[in-house]
Amino acid sequence: MEKQEKFDVVVVGAGIMGSCSAYEVAKRGYSVLLLEQYDFLHRRGSSHGETRTIRITYPEPYYVSMMKEAFRLWYKAQEEAGYRVHTPMQHLDFGHPSNSSLQEVISACSMHSIHVETLTPDEASCRFPPFSFPDDHVVLVTQEGGVIHASKAVAMFQALALKHGAVLRDRTKVLNIDLLGMKGEGGDGSISIVTEQGSIIARKCIITAGAWTQKLLRHIHNVELPIQPLHTTIAYWKIEDEVAHEFSVKQGFPSFAYYSDTYMYGNASLELPGLVKVALHSGFTCDPDERALIPDRKTLKDVVSPWLDTFLKAKVKSDSPVLAEACMYSMTPDQDFILDFLPMSEGNIVIGAGFSGHGFKMGPLVGRILADLALNGSCGYVPLEYFSIARFDQNSKGNVKAYEEPVRHVAVEQVKPDAVIT
Ligand SMILES: Cc1cc2nc3c(=O)[nH]c(=O)nc-3n(C[C@H](O)[C@H](O)[C@H](O)COP(=O)(O)OP(=O)(O)OC[C@H]3O[C@@H](n4cnc5c(N)ncnc54)[C@H](O)[C@@H]3O)c2cc1C
Repeated sequence: MEKQEKFDVVVVGAGIMGSCSAYEVAKRGYSVLLLEQYDFLHRRGSSHGETRTIRITYPEPYYVSMMKEAFRLWYKAQEEAGYRVHTPMQHLDFGHPSNSSLQEVISACSMHSIHVETLTPDEASCRFPPFSFPDDHVVLVTQEGGVIHASKAVAMFQALALKHGAVLRDRTKVLNIDLLGMKGEGGDGSISIVTEQGSIIARKCIITAGAWTQKLLRHIHNVELPIQPLHTTIAYWKIEDEVAHEFSVKQGFPSFAYYSDTYMYGNASLELPGLVKVALHSGFTCDPDERALIPDRKTLKDVVSPWLDTFLKAKVKSDSPVLAEACMYSMTPDQDFILDFLPMSEGNIVIGAGFSGHGFKMGPLVGRILADLALNGSCGYVPLEYFSIARFDQNSKGNVKAYEEPVRHVAVEQVKPDAVIT
């Protein structure tokens, strides 16, 4: 009979959160296995692709404070790996000054002594020439922004985890996590991780299964978490040749977020020559196993194209993007993360999920938090009450906020091929 494999920690799901968690656990000298249902670096989840915005600005003061630490951890990991995954840029947050999220960004940054420069539309257009800002807008500039090169960053954390002794295994789907060995039930506290290829014994388990979290949890004590997968689309647009230089990092083109009924985001032309990324922070509800992997070109045409005509007037070919790719968000009702123990798991199963379309920039910090919860049972440096599962017992909408959440859901089951404009 084959000997059963045993690990201190098994991490389920090898996106950015699972890869960072495996790295943190391995670095501390524990045995760890990172399991992924598809190939490593596949394109069906949330962590693939060229870039993710990183910025210190948030309306919630707790994220501003977490970002200070996240930046530090990104720099540390880059140093250890010996190559860069962060390209720094200035960051712009702009919109109408009455926008409540924008107002909260100013106050959250001030609370944490982050310098925010406030520019008039004329001043901002002068400094960032491709943009045309409407006269009634306000533009906030911070120095701590830019992008993380997404797939490269996931690969970096997997390589670092491997270097510290982690075992990495892809094409291994976890079917169930068996709690029968729990101490309260007379067992020794160990967990059985059941995969398509057999089961593995672990002392602790970290679940970082992204948009599949709810599907997996239903098998374990029938746990229901309010995590809604959304099908979203990223897009790259052609810059007019004569102004292409204005969009470069060298010329100071920033990463940016536009706050309004629609939340738009983008960054300097970097990943693909002559193209600039501009996309809408929104999506359609979907089933992660059933969705068609096609971009939603209709929303790009209806919402992003007119935005480009207003804010990057005639500098970008706005009729249709050169490149568009589907991706997935896992939304919680308050768009705050879930970082907590699974109920009834005696503190042995930790969940990191519901990153709501803005988690990548905090990957290394989330990895550290999840490793601390799994190995030490606590983590004192972040206000975990904002990320608890219990917050939904008190209020099904979760944390109460004084402003509108940025991501809009559209309740359509699937992006249909007839929604594609070619
Ligand atoms: C288009 C787009 C733009 C974004 N922009 C930003 C941004 O600018 N800034 C930012 O900070 N964040 C951004 N985000 C959000 C960020 O990318 C996500 O929050 C983050 O990638 C979530 O990572 P994850 O590890 O939780 O999920 P995933 O990357 O989806 O990883 C989960 C993994 O678990 C695996 N898995 C699931 N079930 C099982 C199972 N049963 N057995 C084994 N493996 C399993 C999956 O295959 C998957 O690989 C964006 C997301 C998208 C889609």
